[in-house]
Amino acid sequence: MTAELKTMKREDVLRSGPYPMLIGGKEVPSISGKTFATFDPSNGRKLADVYEAGPEDVERAVAAAHGAFHGPWRGVLPRDRSRMLLELARLLESRVEALSWLECYDAGKPIAASRAWLAGAPSTLEYYAGILLGLAGETLEVSDRTLLDFTMREPLGVCGLIVPWNFPLSIALLKMAPALAAGNCVVVKPSEVTPLSTVELGSLIAEAGFPPGVVNIVNGPGDPVGMALVRDPRVAKVSFTGGTATGKTIFREAAATVKRLTLELGGKSASLVFADANLDKAVGVAYTDMVRNSGQVCGACTRLLLEESIADAFLEALEAKLRALRIGLPGDPATEMGPLVSPTQLARVGDYLRIGGDEGARVQSYSDLRARPELAEGCYMAPTLIHDATNAMRVAREEIFGPVLTVMRFKGEDEAVRIANDSRYGLAACAFTGDASRAMRLARALSAGTVCINTGVRSSVDAPFGGFRESGVGKERGREALLDDTQVKNVRFGLN
Ligand code: NDP
Repeated sequence: MTAELKTMKREDVLRSGPYPMLIGGKEVPSISGKTFATFDPSNGRKLADVYEAGPEDVERAVAAAHGAFHGPWRGVLPRDRSRMLLELARLLESRVEALSWLECYDAGKPIAASRAWLAGAPSTLEYYAGILLGLAGETLEVSDRTLLDFTMREPLGVCGLIVPWNFPLSIALLKMAPALAAGNCVVVKPSEVTPLSTVELGSLIAEAGFPPGVVNIVNGPGDPVGMALVRDPRVAKVSFTGGTATGKTIFREAAATVKRLTLELGGKSASLVFADANLDKAVGVAYTDMVRNSGQVCGACTRLLLEESIADAFLEALEAKLRALRIGLPGDPATEMGPLVSPTQLARVGDYLRIGGDEGARVQSYSDLRARPELAEGCYMAPTLIHDATNAMRVAREEIFGPVLTVMRFKGEDEAVRIANDSRYGLAACAFTGDASRAMRLARALSAGTVCINTGVRSSVDAPFGGFRESGVGKERGREALLDDTQVKNVRFGLN
């Protein structure tokens, strides 16, 4: 099957003119006519122009969403919302190959991985199309026999969805699908670094049957375009995925209008490997956490905690795999790891490697990129381990978001759990052990939104994902995301 897939060139998947916004059911330019450029991170070359929203465009988009919510969308039956989501899934499925190439160029994703990620994207829509049909309130037995009391689950109104650059289309869908399933209207703001696939998704919305204004897309920088959504009193909820620093700013600004929030923020998750574990499996997971999407994954376990007695053998096996890693151009089907998403991200990760060295850790890379002139213009970084770290170092406490793991050693379960939980983040944790009782103790003791035992952190649409502490607020995915996009109304009926 894969062998039959052909290379799609840039000109096969790119539009010729600037990429538009989607407002009130129409693809439109910005009122000012202003555009910004996106770049191919594998070579630094300009890829496309995109219309940049000004305040008047955000105003139009929010007004369109608000109008649709209080207009035609209100009367649409759950069954028909479900059908529209399924139709969008079907349309998306037919575009997966082209969209995989678009994200390959726009985000630097290796094509094989891009295809694998986006092949699962329609199922996000299908899942919420299914479970929305079970959305219901409940009848309450209150302690007053003169009352009949029941609850209704209602949509919130307009949701502002602020999407990052690491999984552009997948995360846009993870926010849109539950919001629409619950009966909300949305204004989506993709990252200005990777907006193209989301614009293409927008081109399918009308064909799927959604009335004008139910889905709107505005492009441009986080501040002011995303921030305009956060400040607009007509926006009832903001769902944001991104860095914790930006998440805190959004939290503060959203307070002014007491908005609902889902914040899916940073992580510094720990993977605990005990001497009795299946080491091959644990090495494979550590390797994948490092190289998948060039390490730009919030749920990756980037603190590798190894039990002292197996640490050397474990690292030897991991280093062998890293030396064999195929780093290359994203369009090559053999490439396992491509570039980072942007020069900004490359510089940020590079800074952390210097910080690690200054803090006294041993920073070691496992690929010599100087010997690869074809990659010289791109945002490439060799996979790197930060050895001999302590949990007090910045490289163990802050999110790096590149192909980098910080390695520490421990003696015994108590020390491992103490180090793992000593973090301002609490997104995920992994533990590898052959002892079933210890596995259950760890499931209890590890303080994170997702705990994985003898497997890596792989989120799926049907299980909730969201962090403890500074990793966020609320959940994405699963039934929880649908419920988080509703509000409960209590109705009390006097019987006499
Ligand atoms: P940000 O958190 O700043 O950006 C994420 C999204 O928020 C983008 O759409 C961005 O828009 C938007 N945004 C930025 N500032 C604001 C604002 N003031 N108001 C509203 N929206 C805003 O991430 P960065 O790209 O700066 O990356 C910084 C770090 O964040 C990374 O190194 C990584 O550690 C972390 N990160 C975590 C992600 C996750 O999956 N949890 C995803 C991405 C980053 P635009 O890009 O157009 O400016």
